[in-house]
Amino acid sequence: MSTVMTVITTGKSKPDWDELFAFTDRKAGRFDHRISGSPIWQLNKTGSAKLAEEVLAVVMTAVEIAGLSEGAFDPTVLPLVELWDFDSGGALPQNEEILEALKKINFRNIEISKNGEVTIPEGYGLDLGGIAKGAVLDILAEHMIQEGYRNFLIEAGGDITVSGLKDNGQPWVVAIRHPRRKGVLLGVLSLGEKGKRISIVTSGDYERFFEKDGTRYHHILDPKTGFPSKGLVSVTVITSRCIEADALATAAFVLGPEAGFRLLQERAQTEGLLVSEDGDRLTARITSDFPLAVEDLDLDLE
Ligand code: ADP
Ligand code: MG
Repeated sequence: MSTVMTVITTGKSKPDWDELFAFTDRKAGRFDHRISGSPIWQLNKTGSAKLAEEVLAVVMTAVEIAGLSEGAFDPTVLPLVELWDFDSGGALPQNEEILEALKKINFRNIEISKNGEVTIPEGYGLDLGGIAKGAVLDILAEHMIQEGYRNFLIEAGGDITVSGLKDNGQPWVVAIRHPRRKGVLLGVLSLGEKGKRISIVTSGDYERFFEKDGTRYHHILDPKTGFPSKGLVSVTVITSRCIEADALATAAFVLGPEAGFRLLQERAQTEGLLVSEDGDRLTARITSDFPLAVEDLDLDLE
């Protein structure tokens, strides 16, 4: 997944770490369009593919969140992603190139037949980068539960899912990074409930970006404009399934402070924290039952 993963388990039995990490790599590879031979690579190459249930389920959730966010989150964003090329550090495209790419982006043109055959139009391509990490964390968590683990935490590049509680019966303590100050925490919260899964995911403009002429260009792209989305610096989402938290964080980030807030506020069993930059300070907005108050956050820029 081009990131570092951490797994913490509690209890007496120790996982076979090599097996666990090999399992994760294998699963992650299935959703990665850059891995030649993977199901999504195949789909992009030929325009259609019959997808196994596990992969199909992720594509379907991606389409669902795309609909919910009216295309702010869009898994067909690949032509734009390739143009901005953040995988190699990023480059500012020409306007005409952006307009061309935008013609090949629209999740409504993904066709899914009853037998699991997915078809996309000529020139289209899927990029599950905004949802796959969450999906893989869910798959790993379910695998671990099947193996008999009840209390654990999995973290990969800003996505976290926990099951149950820590050894001492206390909740897990999770910190959210300050989006502008290295080594500083925006806030710290407790997470976890006996026998339950809960996930927390943050999307931000500070992980992958380049700067040109004083403007920050980051890797979350607005399919309406073709440019990195404006308005927010980070969005944190808490909900049970990590796949949903991941896609919703990206979706709300693109939607911005108003529509992004509404999306998270109106969704059941979902909480969110949306942070924007207002001159010399950060401002934050939280949904009704977010486990932190705005006063608990460090919003100073220095
Ligand atoms: P991260 O990967 O840093 O955790 P996200 O989950 O927000 O962050 O995913 C960002 C990735 O999602 C990008 O690198 C790109 O592959 C893809 N992406 C970018 N813009 C969009 C979008 N509007 N909708 C869906 N996926 C997107
Ligand atoms: Mg995401």
